[in-house]
Amino acid sequence: MIKQKLQQIKLGKLSAEQNIKNFILKIRKDNPKINAVLHLNPDAIVQAKGVDKKGKKGKLAGLGVIVKSNINVKGLICNCASKTLKNYFGAYNATVIDKLLKEDAVIIGMANMDEFACGSSGETSAFGVCKNPSALDRIPGGSSSGSAASVAAGFCDFSLGSDTGGSIRNPASHCRVVGYKPSYGAVSRYGLIDLSMSLDQIGALGNCVGDAEIVFNVIKGKDEKDATSRDFKSDNVKSKIVIGVPKIEADEKIWEIVKNKINEVCNKKGWEQGDIKLAYIDLGVQTYYLINYAEFFSGTRRFDGRKYGFKIEDVCGKEVLRRIFGGAEISQAEFAGKYYRRALKAKKIIEKEFENAFKKVDVIVMPVVPKLPHKLGERISLKDMYNYDSLTVLANLAEIPGISIPCGKISGVPVGIQILAKKGNDEMLLKIGKEFE
Ligand code: GLN
Repeated sequence: MIKQKLQQIKLGKLSAEQNIKNFILKIRKDNPKINAVLHLNPDAIVQAKGVDKKGKKGKLAGLGVIVKSNINVKGLICNCASKTLKNYFGAYNATVIDKLLKEDAVIIGMANMDEFACGSSGETSAFGVCKNPSALDRIPGGSSSGSAASVAAGFCDFSLGSDTGGSIRNPASHCRVVGYKPSYGAVSRYGLIDLSMSLDQIGALGNCVGDAEIVFNVIKGKDEKDATSRDFKSDNVKSKIVIGVPKIEADEKIWEIVKNKINEVCNKKGWEQGDIKLAYIDLGVQTYYLINYAEFFSGTRRFDGRKYGFKIEDVCGKEVLRRIFGGAEISQAEFAGKYYRRALKAKKIIEKEFENAFKKVDVIVMPVVPKLPHKLGERISLKDMYNYDSLTVLANLAEIPGISIPCGKISGVPVGIQILAKKGNDEMLLKIGKEFE
């Protein structure tokens, strides 16, 4: 837990150097079997020593962070787990990285992930599948697989991931850590190698909600380098919260765990709960993938091998290629943007649906992923793979904040609970989240 760790560092009971050394030792020992980290920062210990020497230290002084490999860190390999950018060293820092460094966090290394963040299982990485430290025979989820697995394996104090359709919340749920996707625009995306720019959001993964909150408070805020970023003002937490529980398809046992937790919290706090109707949410996956394919296709046109790396179509994996071909098809001139525009319309409708729901309830609570993660090596259909995202894409489409918190286990496999709040109500969501821990 970050708060306690910071206290130890402040009191001189633990040095930043020792903290980072401990993590590096652990990574050296356990990463060969987990494959959560692709690249270590060769200067991490020197940087930690620098933090120790400082008089007035920042808010994250000496804490070790692992960064998803699609976020630019100057001098470290940001390859999006793709051969396209195999040896690509970040030329500049993403805004979130500058903000972490300003508060004296130390970057330990770069995380494995699904290639270009396309995936829900951690299996599409060009550098080998990442394992789930909390259920070793299962996939860790994705696409921020290495970020979630790094926290679960004790490789860092917290990690950064990106969430376009669930990529922070999904692996957090499977790996038994907290994963938090802020409201769209609450955290600058400058320096994130995008998957789908109108849905992408950077966020933190950690051991508890409080850790995600501390990191969020450092990385949030308007950034002039990202025109979509802004400062939000969150509502306060009322004494009596109303929880909306939607009727949504998910494995019965998962629902049972989630409902038990809702009952427990409502009994403890005297909060109210009730069914909530959300229309059109069954369109989530279709809407999401249409936007994703079109925007990904457009975004990848710069990976033509001329300026850096390799031509993406020549070296990428199957899932990335599928999206490039599919995106090209959808974007053909003769359709004049017809499909993309339709998908954007559906996105607006879903956004409105949530806006109206939050007039009646303070938060919506439901499962994160509709089923348990499959076993490593097991082959599942594309439809099943995309359906992993059916409950997480909604927050991205509606631009609202969402968090996944560990909630229980089914036959030893972790299950998370998902809490959603109105756009901009990030602080409120985090406070309510703590009651579910
Ligand atoms: N699994 C989703 C996809 O493949 C989500 C990815 C993400 O959030 N980056 O697109």
